[in-house]
Parts: sequence; C-alpha cells; structure tokens
Amino acid sequence: MADNATAPVRKIIHVDCDCFYAAVEMRDNPDLRERPIAVGGAGRRGVITTCNYPARRFGVRSAMPGGEALRLCPDLTLLPVDMPRYRAASQQVMTILRELTEWVEPLSLDEAYLDVSEVTACKGSATLMAQYLRERVREEVGITLSAGVAPNKFLAKIASDWQKPDGLFVIRPEDVDGFVRQLPVEKIHGVGQVTARRLHELSIFTCDDLRQQRPEQLVEWFGKQGYRLHRLAYGEDDRPVVVTREAKSVSVERTFAADLPNLQACQAVLPSLLEELAGRLSRRGRDKPVHKLFVKIRYSDFSTHTLERVRALSGPPQVDDYQPLLAALVTDAQRPIRLLGLGVRFQASGAPTRQLRLFD
Ligand SMILES: [Mg+2]
Repeated sequence: MADNATAPVRKIIHVDCDCFYAAVEMRDNPDLRERPIAVGGAGRRGVITTCNYPARRFGVRSAMPGGEALRLCPDLTLLPVDMPRYRAASQQVMTILRELTEWVEPLSLDEAYLDVSEVTACKGSATLMAQYLRERVREEVGITLSAGVAPNKFLAKIASDWQKPDGLFVIRPEDVDGFVRQLPVEKIHGVGQVTARRLHELSIFTCDDLRQQRPEQLVEWFGKQGYRLHRLAYGEDDRPVVVTREAKSVSVERTFAADLPNLQACQAVLPSLLEELAGRLSRRGRDKPVHKLFVKIRYSDFSTHTLERVRALSGPPQVDDYQPLLAALVTDAQRPIRLLGLGVRFQASGAPTRQLRLFD
C-alpha cells in the first residue's frame, strides 16, 4: 500500500448508470419514457429492482414490493426483468470505460470505479474524461451515466450521486476539505440507518462534527469502524482501484506541449518514454513474456497511426527494439507529431485471472 504522505494525488472517476434496467427498457421502447415504469415487482412476492424517475415522483423505490408500488402509483407499468438485455448494455458500457483505461473496477452491471491518474487522453483532465464517457455512453448505448470525479473512491462515489440523474460532479483536491466538512454523516458509505441514528444521538450530524471527536473516542463508540469514520471525516481513503482482469498489454503515451517537428525529435524522446514504460512494466507485467511491440503516433492534424510487430522478448524492451518501428511508422520525416506512444503486448496465457493493483 502506498504511503499516504508521499503518494501522488490520484484521479478517480466513479460512474453509475441512471436507473439502469429501467433506462434500457425506455431506450428500447420510447413510449415508456414519460410513463412511470418499474422493472420487477410482478407476482405476489415480487419486489421492484429499478424504477424510472416518473415512478420515483410517486414514492416508488427499488426493493419495494410490487403491490405497495402499485398502491402509491396505480398507473405504474411493471415490466419483467430481462437480464440478457441488461448484461449486453452493461458490456457496451464497460467496453467504453476500458477503452479509456484498463484500471476499471466494476461494482455491478452499471457501476464502476476508474483510476485515470496515468491517462493522458483529454489533456489528462479527469473532468474532460468523465464528460467524454458520458457522451459516448449516451450516443452508443442510449442511456445516461452519472459521474463523479475525486482524488479517491469514497469521494468519487459521493460525487457521482451528487447531481444524479445525468450529472457530473467534480471534487478537486483543493475542494476536498470544504466539501467533506459539510457532508452529512449518512452520506458516508457504510454508515447505515443504525450508525446514523447513533451518531445523531451523539450530536454528530456532519463530518465536521465527527472531526471534533478524538479517534480513540470514535473507536470506543463504534469499534474498528470508528477509525475509518475518523479518516473519512477528513476525506482520506487510500483504497486502490482493483482490476481483476489480466493485462493484455501495457503502454505509455505522451502528448507534447509543442509538436515534435520531425522523426529525429521523436527519436530523441524515445529513451525517456521507454523509461516510463519500463516503470509501468515492472509494476504490471512482471514475469510475463512480451509477444509484440507497438508504436503509436498522432500527427498535428490529429490523424493517428499505430504499427505493431511480433517481437518475442524475455527482458524489458530497449530503445533499439523500438527504433525500427518508429522509423517505419513515420513515413514523412518532416511532419510535426503531437503524440508518441510505446507499448508491449503479452502472449495470451490462458492462465486464470489474477488480481493486479495499482499500488502494491
Ligand atoms: Mg445505477
């Protein structure tokens, strides 16, 4: 685990589709859009899994028995659960997320954390990345996604809920303190009704109130959770985004503030880019034989080209391994280049999925 005092500031995005099952139903049958609908809840003992916002205005909620929902909203349309269709939509969403970064930790079909600390797309701005993801999901999947951007998971999840539905909320590192202070304790993940009631009885309503208590006192009241509450009251949470898929490739890319004028300039930055790749490989590709190398360039007119070659390596790649690819890819040696990337692909191992973590 990274030491909090020295760890760089992370950029975490939490994404959450709005009323996911109901959203897929409305996408596939626009007549349902303005009507209150709920998925599930049929039969004597059925409960609602999801409902749309028109239904919520009547007080219909998920986990509510269908009968109760119909009493609150007699015009409610109950739809049967169609998991294959929701799973297909989920896969589309996750694919879009994984095109941005491999560091995606799904929490359910429609919710995930992304660690975008090392992503250089969208000028490295997590806010722009979140906007981009929201647009792509709207256009390609046909549903809306709410997103939260923050330096850690705890705050990113709160942020994605802050302007739901179809919202984006950003908590910048410098805003964390002010944001957390006013946060009601019941917004803290893991603080359920029982703990919230207990806190209220102790006159603790906000994280600022929590901060007035010594951690030892909180531990006395709440056991181990007390220490966690103390940390969260300061907006601290160093849980990593955990990826359970095996990495198929590792790459780095850099967008240059001023375009590189020619091939020679690209060759000059190759060693430093390679060093970055080696660092990433030592964390993520440990012991995995390299199967292919690739180079990516983007010219100043934004046209993007990639060249990939089979090259079996037992150790980390060297500058000489990339030089020929770069020379072959840059067909016009005098054309300005704004982005240069290097990567390796691993041999498909067929080995069971292993847990990889960003900070280990
Ligand atoms: Mg959701």
